[in-house]
Amino acid sequence: GHNNLNAKLVLLGDMGAGKSSLVLRFVKGQFLEFQESTIGAAFFSQTLAVNDTTVKFEIWDTAGQERYHSLAPMYYRGATAAIIVYDISSTDSFTRAKKWVQELQKQGNPNMVMALAGNKADLEDKRKVPAEEARVYAEENGLFFMETSAKTAANVNEIFYEIAKRLPRA
Ligand code: GDP
Ligand code: MG
Repeated sequence: GHNNLNAKLVLLGDMGAGKSSLVLRFVKGQFLEFQESTIGAAFFSQTLAVNDTTVKFEIWDTAGQERYHSLAPMYYRGATAAIIVYDISSTDSFTRAKKWVQELQKQGNPNMVMALAGNKADLEDKRKVPAEEARVYAEENGLFFMETSAKTAANVNEIFYEIAKRLPRA
């Protein structure tokens, strides 16, 4: 038969890594070169069909700045999934992503499905974070890893689809 599943998903990562752009690409199929930075957090929802299940993602797109850090637990507590986003052209954003992973491992739901997104994969000529380094890190920490581009749409639907497949079924 057909099943419906609701999944609360949170996006975390450095400001500018492309969290809002990934959501905008997934939800509306759009990309903005001058995406406005998020204040506090923004909410979106989108459904995805995976085999015999319709997954309704309830997505919290957080701001990422340090000054909003104390708000983050409100969004990741109770989340069934998280996408931790960094920018492949910024080593700082990768360092920041690893800090988010640590925080989720300590404070988040232990069964949370976690994805690491190396975004801006279209900026190959500006790459600072080797894909192999991120892949190894993700494997060691129980996340799955994909490089994405909100700009070209590469791997954007795929990352949400992979999360949907991994969600615990009731
Ligand atoms: P956020 O702070 O993590 O939400 O990041 P934004 O989504 O606001 O994106 C920050 C900037 O990076 C914006 O100017 C976006 O247009 C740009 N951006 C986001 N994703 C990509 C991408 O995949 N490729 C490129 N080249 N630029 C991107
Ligand atoms: Mg944003």
